[in-house]
Amino acid sequence: MNKIEHIGIAVKDIEKSNKLFSSLFNKEPYKQEEVKSENVLTSFFQTGESKIELLQATHEDSAIAKFIEKKGEGIHHIAFDVTDIHAELKRLEKEGFKIITKEPKKGADNKLVAFLHPKSTNGVLVELCQEIVAED
Ligand code: ZN
Repeated sequence: MNKIEHIGIAVKDIEKSNKLFSSLFNKEPYKQEEVKSENVLTSFFQTGESKIELLQATHEDSAIAKFIEKKGEGIHHIAFDVTDIHAELKRLEKEGFKIITKEPKKGADNKLVAFLHPKSTNGVLVELCQEIVAED
């Protein structure tokens, strides 16, 4: 794990939260992106070498909608940057961690992502992410 890539925060209304976090950080989000496969709207703020990702559900079946229903708004996951996500998943599986995403998938912000089950990580939803490098 190279660094904390971002912290994901579940919000009810991303427009309102964009304003809130813009005034908190004194800067605008650098990107907004819908991830259709996850039924979420995201926006990203750069905070030093790490980022803050806001997530709003676009559908009641979204994991974010379920999270907010259970726990309310707040920190949803911590994402770690890895160099080789497939190798890292193999290693963690051997170590006994429960992997939710066996096959990494394309997430927001040009990343391959995978999640570990919070039951195996002291209640913290851990995301691994690897930057997708364009092949040309
Ligand atoms: Zn994330």
